[in-house]
Amino acid sequence: MGCLFCNIVEKKIPAAIVHEDEHAIAFRDINPVAPTHVLVIPKKHVAALHDTTPDDAALLGHLVTTANAVARKEGLVEKGYRLVVNDGPDAGQSVFHVHLHVLGGRSMAWPPG
Ligand code: 5GP
Ligand code: ZN
Repeated sequence: MGCLFCNIVEKKIPAAIVHEDEHAIAFRDINPVAPTHVLVIPKKHVAALHDTTPDDAALLGHLVTTANAVARKEGLVEKGYRLVVNDGPDAGQSVFHVHLHVLGGRSMAWPPG
């Protein structure tokens, strides 16, 4: 069975990919909660943000700058966008391969639900 997002990285499961480089891949969420909803993930399998260590600092920085590049390409930076990481059960994490949600195209409430 394996990890769903590792299968997307390996192109065993199709996804609408909007960016790919040596260390990361970004694709449209299958169940978008905003007009633009893209997931940015590392190609390396890491289950959750709380599993990362200082050794992952460069990779995590790359994911954030990639998310920003995706937001710019999607035309979100003028009006703004939201970057979300759901970590663990209280946050509602449902896929255990770390991912950044890039959400935009509508105004958003705060605090989140
Ligand atoms: P989480 O709840 O873990 O923060 O986010 C997981 C996200 O992955 C959800 O927004 C969900 O819609 C998305 N997702 C789940 N399965 C698939 C899939 O097979 N393909 C794509 N593109 N997104 C998926
Ligand atoms: Zn994985």
